[in-house]
Amino acid sequence: MRIVVSIKQVPETTEVKIDPAKNSVDTEGLTRIINPYDTYALEEAVRIKEASGATVAVISVGPEKVDESLREALAMGADEGFHLSDPAFEGSDPLATAYILARGIEKLGPYDLVICGRQAMDGASGQVGPSLAEELGLPCVTFVRKIEELKEGYIRVQRMTDDGYEVVEGPLPMVITVVKEINEPRLASLKGLMKAKRVTIPVWNASDLGLDPARYGPAGSPTSVARLSPPPPRTGGEMIEGTPEEQVRILVRKLRDAKVL
Ligand SMILES: Cc1cc2nc3c(=O)[nH]c(=O)nc-3n(C[C@H](O)[C@H](O)[C@H](O)COP(=O)(O)OP(=O)(O)OC[C@H]3O[C@@H](n4cnc5c(N)ncnc54)[C@H](O)[C@@H]3O)c2cc1C
Repeated sequence: MRIVVSIKQVPETTEVKIDPAKNSVDTEGLTRIINPYDTYALEEAVRIKEASGATVAVISVGPEKVDESLREALAMGADEGFHLSDPAFEGSDPLATAYILARGIEKLGPYDLVICGRQAMDGASGQVGPSLAEELGLPCVTFVRKIEELKEGYIRVQRMTDDGYEVVEGPLPMVITVVKEINEPRLASLKGLMKAKRVTIPVWNASDLGLDPARYGPAGSPTSVARLSPPPPRTGGEMIEGTPEEQVRILVRKLRDAKVL
């Protein structure tokens, strides 16, 4: 069995700075990490590998720096890494990203399962996994919190819902997106990181993938970011004085006045 994990490199920050000229997040000088949701996807793949002898390939679309994240994924237990990179990919929206990824995954050869995170920490559209499934012509189950059974040509999973979960089964190959409830990701070991340094990671550009130029970059992106703004700063809270009973009475009155109750 071969599992493909799609990982995105994201900036490690909760402080968002906007580049008004580019209408995008200013990532200059920020440390870059594997999108946290993708570490759950990778951990799940590595656990399947450890339990059943599957092989795990990681794939990512992004600039040169993405190489570091692919090597970290190898150090966490992936067997192969593939980097899809081309300056012309810049300005690709989630649909175009899914198109690039799909052609990259097809170039890898046969595979059984594709695992994505539920969303990226920065873009957070949650669209790439389902769009990727559509591009590959595969079924997709989102928000997977547990893989109950996985065998040749068959998977059964628990899909998280607002008030519980659904059990969904289907044929392989399939694309799933996972939530953080699925496992506790391991950290890359130092030994693994040293070993990963020596691995050759193929880098494929648009012509290696035989891409249609009308389907990536700004020209191939049906969506555009009209405006980006940071969240408004939090206003200071209000302290309510008095005994606990008085505090509750005052709080209820304030909530009623504000028509919250
Ligand atoms: C008009 C437009 C222009 C943009 N231009 C740029 C740009 O120039 N440079 C840039 O970096 N971003 C750019 N973006 C953002 C970029 O399109 C998205 O970050 C990317 O498509 C993924 O979407 P998302 O972050 O919403 O991921 P989500 O859909 O939230 O991610 C879900 C899952 O999909 C997988 N995934 C997502 N992205 C990747 C990836 N790149 N490689 C592998 N797996 C992935 C991961 O498993 C992830 O957990 C642009 C977006 C728009 C709308």
